[in-house]
Amino acid sequence: MNEKYLKQYFKEGEICPFCGLADIESLDQPNIDGNSVILNVNCSSEKCGKEWREYYTLSKIDYKEEKITTVLKGQV
Ligand SMILES: [Zn+2]
Repeated sequence: MNEKYLKQYFKEGEICPFCGLADIESLDQPNIDGNSVILNVNCSSEKCGKEWREYYTLSKIDYKEEKITTVLKGQV
């Protein structure tokens, strides 16, 4: 893993922490485990093609009076 890309990835996301290209995508729906979310991600650049797992921890909740309705991609 490239130290510089990794730092940038933690700060801004969007780029592959291995090769620095913006060809990253999640492989499946986020998996919720307690107050953490686990996401499998890969770099779709042909030269790189790395896969990794990301762990997100709950940092904030935002209360809304009205219900939040979520529309998942492909289920419209
Ligand atoms: Zn990559």
